[in-house]
Amino acid sequence: MDTQSQVVDRLRTAFSSGITIPEQFRRTQLTKLMSMIKDNEEEILNALHKDLAKPKFEAILSEVDIVINELHYTIANFASWMKPEYVNKTLATRLDDCFIRREPLGVVLIIGPWNYPLQLLMVPLVGAIAAGNCVVIKPSEVSAATDSLIAELIPKYLSQDCYAVIRGGAEETEALLQNRFDRIFYTGSQTVARSILQAASVHLTPVTLELGGKCPCFIYGRVNIEVAARRLAWAKFFNAGQSCVAPDYVLCSPAARDALLPALREALEDFYSKEPQTCPDLSRIVSPRHWTRLMDLLGRSSGKVVVGGESNQEDKYIAPTVVVDVAEDDALMQEEIFGPILPILTVESLEKGIELINRKEKPLALYVFSDESSVVNTVLEKTSSGGFCSNDGIIHMTLPSLPFGGVGASGWGSYHGRWGFEEFSHRRACMLRGWALERLNGLRYPPYSDNKLSWLRWTTSTKTSCSLM
Ligand code: NAD
Repeated sequence: MDTQSQVVDRLRTAFSSGITIPEQFRRTQLTKLMSMIKDNEEEILNALHKDLAKPKFEAILSEVDIVINELHYTIANFASWMKPEYVNKTLATRLDDCFIRREPLGVVLIIGPWNYPLQLLMVPLVGAIAAGNCVVIKPSEVSAATDSLIAELIPKYLSQDCYAVIRGGAEETEALLQNRFDRIFYTGSQTVARSILQAASVHLTPVTLELGGKCPCFIYGRVNIEVAARRLAWAKFFNAGQSCVAPDYVLCSPAARDALLPALREALEDFYSKEPQTCPDLSRIVSPRHWTRLMDLLGRSSGKVVVGGESNQEDKYIAPTVVVDVAEDDALMQEEIFGPILPILTVESLEKGIELINRKEKPLALYVFSDESSVVNTVLEKTSSGGFCSNDGIIHMTLPSLPFGGVGASGWGSYHGRWGFEEFSHRRACMLRGWALERLNGLRYPPYSDNKLSWLRWTTSTKTSCSLM
């Protein structure tokens, strides 16, 4: 078996040969990736069930179909994204060809997490292939069944010279990161992101960080509370709360909380029955370690469990749980929960809620539930987050035309659709000049004079160019 550096060298040789440059090569690989997903849907669903007890319904929606949709969208559009983009010119450059050329970066590394172990590797991979890169894919060892399936399938379908899967945990990934890459695309926790940045600094490698954080859900003003409760419960407990864009905590007035609680109870009973542990539509916590972390977090909370709270270690089960009377300094508010526990905090006013959100790191997603557009707009204007969605959760990330990514501590860079293609491309600034207009161009040469300077300022002014070009 090749060592990690032999694999990277093989990919670099292929990239240098120019094989990934033609549009047709990229199209063929994207089409083969589509076949890989479609031909092996059953195996993929089984692996996801093994790893997370992921219900087939959720796995199709959030793993299989999201990748297929990304592929359809990219295959239909990437040829136009590859075209040179002509830009505005000044008078001094009006006879030149001035354009941006999207070029592949080279050999890139995609490191994935375990919560959506297929989607979060394959969607970036689509962007990387479309942009013409060679790619090393590093699945999460925690979702072992999907990790193993991806390692088996990728070489069967994609060019082995250009794309490779390297498996392993922290130690193997740290060793892998000693190789030179042209971009590292990392999805995972903020803690590991710091190690990734350190490793990247050695080769000055650009890094995309798709991280997490605490995504607030602010319920305020007039609200259709029954629908709000159903949408909130779905977004929170989908994949047992192990979604980077899951609502992490709810903010609302005491009156809204009192109305929300019975509606949430009813929604959860409708979704998962009175015995959620027997319900096949609820995923499990990915590992005993993650189960223990969540139960410890719940144990340290001073809040009051009003829904759920039951658990079973052997089954890695935690019931959909709602906790009230949670203070801002509660254990549940100190880190991303990333599990089926929903704390509800009350605030006195819209402003107080916004202040609380802004005291924390900028989240990956921010949700506002309100019938009042002034409430939605105020929160939108006075906060910052990677994405924003009103009156629902998670749904905004299913559109490949919207960039997906964080801001500040929730991540750097974005992808999905064209944004993924851009993330894996270098935008090369090109100016192709001829020999004409040398009198005009000669204005810049010494000996300098005030007269030359004023002509030069006119011919290079963007004010002139805006009206002329
Ligand atoms: P993680 O950081 O533990 O692991 C992610 C990847 O990093 C895995 O492939 C793992 O093998 C590798 N890794 C682990 N330790 C490493 C080390 N020391 N050096 C190099 N690589 C190492 O993250 P996770 O637990 O798999 O994922 C959970 C986190 O990811 C949450 O914070 C969640 O919000 C975030 N997340 C973000 C997104 C997003 O799109 N923004 C999506 C899913 C998850």
